[in-house]
Amino acid sequence: MNYDVIIIGAGPGGVFAAYELMQHKPELKVAVFEAGHALSQRRCPIDGDKIKSCIGCKSCSIMSGFGGAGAFSDGKYNITNDFGGTLYEYIGKKHALELMRYVDEINLRYGGEGTKLYSTAGTRFKTVCIQNDLHLLDASVRHLGTDINYVVLENIYDYLKTRVEFFFDTPVQTISTIDGGYEIKTKDGAYTCSECIVSVGRSGSKWMETVCQDLNINTSSTRVDIGVRVELPAEVFAHITDELYESKIVYRTEKYGDKVRTFCMNPKGAVVNENTNGIITVNGHSYEDPAKQTENTNFALLVAKHFSEPFKDSNGYGESIARLSNMLGGGVIVQRFGDLIRGRRSTPSRIEEAFITPTLNATPGDLSLVLPKRILDAIIEMLYALDKVAPGTANDDTLLYGVEVKFYNMEVEVDRNLETKYPGLYIIGDGSGITHSLSHASASGVHVARNIAEKH
Ligand SMILES: Cc1cc2nc3c(=O)[nH]c(=O)nc-3n(C[C@H](O)[C@H](O)[C@H](O)COP(=O)(O)OP(=O)(O)OC[C@H]3O[C@@H](n4cnc5c(N)ncnc54)[C@H](O)[C@@H]3O)c2cc1C
Repeated sequence: MNYDVIIIGAGPGGVFAAYELMQHKPELKVAVFEAGHALSQRRCPIDGDKIKSCIGCKSCSIMSGFGGAGAFSDGKYNITNDFGGTLYEYIGKKHALELMRYVDEINLRYGGEGTKLYSTAGTRFKTVCIQNDLHLLDASVRHLGTDINYVVLENIYDYLKTRVEFFFDTPVQTISTIDGGYEIKTKDGAYTCSECIVSVGRSGSKWMETVCQDLNINTSSTRVDIGVRVELPAEVFAHITDELYESKIVYRTEKYGDKVRTFCMNPKGAVVNENTNGIITVNGHSYEDPAKQTENTNFALLVAKHFSEPFKDSNGYGESIARLSNMLGGGVIVQRFGDLIRGRRSTPSRIEEAFITPTLNATPGDLSLVLPKRILDAIIEMLYALDKVAPGTANDDTLLYGVEVKFYNMEVEVDRNLETKYPGLYIIGDGSGITHSLSHASASGVHVARNIAEKH
């Protein structure tokens, strides 16, 4: 065998697996294959000046490379079983939380010291939410911020690079079983290992599907979350974000009984494009460094759509809706809430006249031509509900960017060791469909690494 362990994907799942293996068994020969660039080479060409929107790079630096989709993220590590994945269903709630806290300790040790840990439990805002039919989920949130998150990754890479072999710009094409292990094929050749950890995240979801088909591993895909990113003056949410930073608020609509939730809140942040398999959707960032902060806060409002038999392609459904916005707007569409309510499109002049400056250069348009009525109705209801706890939310000038889609990777059949039916083949992180967040993905990497270390 070339290696004891091959890790595919250098996102948080893969990185923490490599880190933990080196903590327990530094003598193991470990290689990491990553489709994207090394951290220092990762650069999104959008500068807001010469290049204003996504040009579809061969390897998207936002989604791929050392650090994975999390590298330029806001670095919010939510330490909770309430959202961010269902890792606890496999390894138990207590153990899942322990691993998330362990990941937090490592982040602090590698540059995150001094960053804030927020907590929602027992706050006055929780009471105010309940009084207004809104439900605040409990979580501790470590906010590293995009800048410190990058420093932590740099430091972890410095630690790993002398111990683990990294192959960047090297997507793995196939995985096959061989006697006593696995063989992976890349453009530069084939490599063998006794154990293989697959951690390819959302950007590797299509490829993951083919691997599961080829190896006959059972999968299921029934959920997609669709919605918009809301941007408003930071003052409107300041009383919430100053105390809690990130708040996950859930609302059940009166009209249909659908659940809408806030997601990925970025105080004084910026709205950004996200490219998933060539489809442009919207996301958000924020920075710890005051010099980089904006005057706006953004967050997503998402409606979960669960499908039942015979429909099996929930992500395909989400992609079709995102494609529609790309078709109409050439990318992401932005609309003032007031224009949406009055049934008219936003125009460049209406956006210009608003009392808020958009942080993303999106195409003014009409989201009612893109989002299904049921989803749009739910979002409008939620905006009015939020207005009661954060007056100003349902203001005419509040900006809605669409569409934001949260794709869930198909869930792959694995056991409590996150091991497939093939001994020594593990599927972890967002690529497994089990995690959807930095902390859960990282924790899944630690979990698998410890199991492997125990065996050797
Ligand atoms: C803009 C943005 C902001 C976000 N903010 C937050 C946040 O604040 N908090 C939070 O909890 N979550 C956030 N997320 C989600 C978070 O980044 C992911 O949940 C997390 O990165 C998942 O980790 P992972 O290791 O499973 O996968 P990923 O981070 O997606 O990493 C997978 C890696 O595998 C590589 N890969 C794919 N296919 C192959 C292949 N065939 N061969 C080799 N390599 C391959 C990819 O290039 C990628 O680098 C954000 C995501 C984005 C895009």
